[in-house]
Amino acid sequence: MNSIPELLKEVNELRAELDSIRKQKNTTNLKGQLNLQEAIDGFWDWNLQTNEVFYSPSWKSMLGYEEHELEHHYDTWANIVHPDDKVNILTSIRDFLADESGTFEGVMRMQHKDGHYLFIRTRALQVTRDEFDEPIRLVGTHVDITQRKHAELFDIRYNKILKMIAQGEPASEIYDEIAYIYEERHPGIRCSMLELDGDTLLHAGAPSLPKEYCDQVHGLKNGPNIGSCGTSTYTGKRVIVEDIETDPKWENIKAAALPHGLRSCWSEPIFSVSGKVLGAFGMYRNYPSAPTASEQSDLKAAARLAGIVMEREHNQKRITALAYSDLLTGLSSRAHLFITIEELIKTSSRNGECFSLLYLDLDNFKSVNDSLGHDVGDILLKEIASRITEISRDVDCIARLGGDEFCIVVKDISDTLGSANIAQRVINVISKKLELSGRKFIPSCSIGIARYPDDGADLKSLVKAADTALYAAKDSGKGCYAFYDIELTRVAEYQFKVEQFLRETIEKQNLTLAYQPQIDVRTGKIVGVEALSRWNHHELGDVPPVDFIATAERIGMIKQLTEWVFNTACAQAVEWKNMGLPLIRMAVNISPSHLFDDDFIPSLQGVIDGTDMHSNNLELEVTESVMHTNKNGLSIFSPLRKLGVLLAIDDFGTGYSSFASLKHLSVDYLKIDKDFVDDMLTDEKTNLLIRSMVEMGHNLGYKIIAEGVESQAQFDELKAFGCDIVQGYFFSKPVSADKIGVLLNEGVEV
Ligand code: C2E
Ligand code: CA
Ligand code: CA
Repeated sequence: MNSIPELLKEVNELRAELDSIRKQKNTTNLKGQLNLQEAIDGFWDWNLQTNEVFYSPSWKSMLGYEEHELEHHYDTWANIVHPDDKVNILTSIRDFLADESGTFEGVMRMQHKDGHYLFIRTRALQVTRDEFDEPIRLVGTHVDITQRKHAELFDIRYNKILKMIAQGEPASEIYDEIAYIYEERHPGIRCSMLELDGDTLLHAGAPSLPKEYCDQVHGLKNGPNIGSCGTSTYTGKRVIVEDIETDPKWENIKAAALPHGLRSCWSEPIFSVSGKVLGAFGMYRNYPSAPTASEQSDLKAAARLAGIVMEREHNQKRITALAYSDLLTGLSSRAHLFITIEELIKTSSRNGECFSLLYLDLDNFKSVNDSLGHDVGDILLKEIASRITEISRDVDCIARLGGDEFCIVVKDISDTLGSANIAQRVINVISKKLELSGRKFIPSCSIGIARYPDDGADLKSLVKAADTALYAAKDSGKGCYAFYDIELTRVAEYQFKVEQFLRETIEKQNLTLAYQPQIDVRTGKIVGVEALSRWNHHELGDVPPVDFIATAERIGMIKQLTEWVFNTACAQAVEWKNMGLPLIRMAVNISPSHLFDDDFIPSLQGVIDGTDMHSNNLELEVTESVMHTNKNGLSIFSPLRKLGVLLAIDDFGTGYSSFASLKHLSVDYLKIDKDFVDDMLTDEKTNLLIRSMVEMGHNLGYKIIAEGVESQAQFDELKAFGCDIVQGYFFSKPVSADKIGVLLNEGVEV
């Protein structure tokens, strides 16, 4: 076998031979040269018995070491090889030694003295064996294939990026990949991509730059001296800044960069295919430096790659904007409307919510188009769009479906009147006068309303329902709205009329009061009456209080209504007294919202003073809900106490309050709701509840009134429970003041 010096001699000869070949070829075949060059890079000679290994000088210098450095021992290699590659290599060597017919060749990473890893191809040249055929010595070569390996890896990653672009992966992910691939190729460089929106720089991707820095750059306006990227997007030219600290282009923004150690920045503008500047690709280093030739060429390549993604994004945004908005009016397009509805259906069905779809069509639009021309028609449509937008909430989606058809999606509307209200407001705003081509014109529209989920649980049926409703609206004379559910249209119309007429009725004091007697269970005598408002309207007939009280609250008329009730009821009580009839309590219902009004107490005081009414004959009925309005609100009870009026909790047991919340209140009566009385004979639990309410109420010091008593049996049971006062049709319906006079004289049948 050859000794090491002999082997080295052979190698040197080989090297000389290669040199001459290289000269002959005169650098024409670069790849061939590299391969030949590689072939002679390093030698190792491993004594398998002692584990001594001779490493040739070139073996060492490949890894950055001098000839005298590194021990000639197996451990030297074992320490330098990448831990993940060590076992593989050793296994391959062992297999190779066991079966000499094969060859040994492997690639491993080895750490350079600087710390970075090189890709080394190692190959066995020769094995020496002893007389028992046991291997005792192995000789081989090392070749540095780092560059080639990097090029291979670069290709793989580059192809991955192209695939991501082709598959439409999110731009932000692709930008990150682009940064990583060039950062890996040029260790120490950090990449950034900025997008230009008008004259504003927007962060696109820079995974290795500090977030704080990216945030500071995001939103900067580009210009002739706005760092490297701001300048390059402004001039459309490459900008090389070797030292951020001293370059005037960074003067104004270097304070953002320097604290993060950024010292040099080279920027290449990113262009669209048509040559428009879309943004900039930047490369940063932590020390002042100019780019090498390869860095320069990669800067350009990177910008081009990022440009493909940026252009794709721009086009995507444009297409989306085109598809999602109506060109003429700027409202949502039909496509966008449908997507919105489908999404809303999903969330609404999950959360059990309702919404309404208003389908609007201009009345007689065709005649505008025909007589004044399409341009004027367009002006009208734009005006209509802006009028609808004006009165709609931001959360509602407004769309033009084409022609003169519009849609409004009204979210969070659970009551009928809400969507009817919006429809009415749209009709009102649209029918404002306008001038078209010098002619005065009053537009008008019809609206169909469909509600999710009642009228349609999917997009198609909902739109169809709204469309059907629209035709119903047109049929009933145009300029109005209609629900898909005809009954709802009637309800909404009725409610509107109530609203419309109620204002006038309250102002003109055209309500009347009916009085319902309250009877003492023990004596059978009338001890009080409850004043109940009555409204008979010439067009609407008798409107039940449940319909008009809530309306009065909504339109802000409840205060005026209650003041009238107070005055009328108190005057009536005084009149009965003056007629010599037995003295009774007068109970008046108070809406919780009004109770907390600042001038409730003064106005009540005014009524008492003005009517000669004894305050301890006046009882206020407030519903349980006052107990869960804010606790501070309950402070209203003590001035009322001072006034001397009596207090009753109305509809007791129907709200969510408990006996526990009663401890905050000091009242005189609990009025057990009619619903309990209704069921008390048929439902055992209700029966038990009433019994408990009476008992606990008494223990807390309240008197108990039961309302809605309709039969002898109910009365007997309530009497047995110890209930104090009863009220209900069994004794008397609410009746006129005159009739009360008669009853007070004659008494009621008990
Ligand atoms: P409420 O305060 O619970 O009044 C009792 C209601 O039950 C009255 O209806 C009364 O006519 C009815 N009623 C009494 N006994 C019987 C019975 O044995 N059987 C049946 N079926 N019903 C009975 P009304 O007059 O229709 O009043 C309804 C609600 O309107 C009242 O409920 C009250 O909350 C409100 N309301 C009426 N007038 C006024 C008012 O002047 N101001 C305020 N804020 N609310 C009022
Ligand atoms: Ca009441
Ligand atoms: Ca009640």
